[in-house]
Amino acid sequence: MSQDEPMRPRVLAIDDSDLVHRLLRARLRHERIDLHSVYTADEGIAAAKELQPEVILLDIDLEDLDGFEVLARLKADPSTRDIAVIFVSASNETMDRVRGLDLGAVDFVGKPFDVGELKARVRSALRMQRLVKMLAQRAQLDGLTGLWNRAYLDDRLEAETASAIRYGNPLSLVLCDLDRFKNLNDTYGHPFGDEVLERTAAILGSGRSPDVACRYGGEEFALIVPGTDLQETIEVADRHRVRISEIQWPERPGVHVSASFGVADLSCISGTPTPEKLIMVADQALYRAKNSGRNQVVGADVQIWPRSATG
Ligand code: GH3
Ligand code: MG
Ligand code: MG
Repeated sequence: MSQDEPMRPRVLAIDDSDLVHRLLRARLRHERIDLHSVYTADEGIAAAKELQPEVILLDIDLEDLDGFEVLARLKADPSTRDIAVIFVSASNETMDRVRGLDLGAVDFVGKPFDVGELKARVRSALRMQRLVKMLAQRAQLDGLTGLWNRAYLDDRLEAETASAIRYGNPLSLVLCDLDRFKNLNDTYGHPFGDEVLERTAAILGSGRSPDVACRYGGEEFALIVPGTDLQETIEVADRHRVRISEIQWPERPGVHVSASFGVADLSCISGTPTPEKLIMVADQALYRAKNSGRNQVVGADVQIWPRSATG
């Protein structure tokens, strides 16, 4: 989840008046935003989908559709639903303001704009948008380990499967389950169990950047490995396996933690690949890893790694 240079927030202005666009451009010139201007409702709706701006400044009196209708359409589409919309209108009618806010606009700015007010309202909408994004992302993170959670895994695996099929790329899934973890909890206590989960997560999360590490359940983890076939992914998983088994626990001498892994790629699936089938096949491989003595990686086409683990 490393972040590159932070992008400037995008603000989309939808207004049929060239004068308004020029005014906005002049008055928001010193704000740290990327301002995009479109003139019609149709262009506006298309640009909202394409650009995914943080904030939209929406004129109520457009020529092709009125702003209320544009807002209703933006709110009806999941891809644009969460964009903060500020209504901009010459109308000072309370009913217009109420109607806009009821439809889901976050704010209202009257024309002609007061520069200070306009900037303050855009800033406030951007601030709220950041919070909304942060909360949405937090809802997809696991509280203990900081890895992505099961809900995120489900969405992401769906998207990665569709993309791998479309472009004919390989896609692998690793399921990882800590060995005899209940014993560890029972013997050394739950807080130590939690520490083991955190250290394991740190290892699984430190892989290559396209790999997506998730906490799948209690002591189970999943790794989505795009662009990588079964054999290569078995090797990736085995490196994780070794690192987990080598963790030192200075305060618990004699403790050894290990994990078992099941690996599958799209080629292990008969018929049309689906995320559910991929999980099922990887889970069957994990089950075999457990039954063959744990602390090992098993590939879905019955490859066992390292081969010496079962003789
Ligand atoms: P196996 O090798 O077959 O996987 O055995 P296991 O003991 O690891 O498997 P089992 O499913 O019997 O036990 C999993 C344990 O994980 C039971 C549960 O109490 C523990 N657990 C689940 N979530 C957490 C957690 O968040 N923290 C801690 N400390 N323990 C957890
Ligand atoms: Mg388990
Ligand atoms: Mg377990």
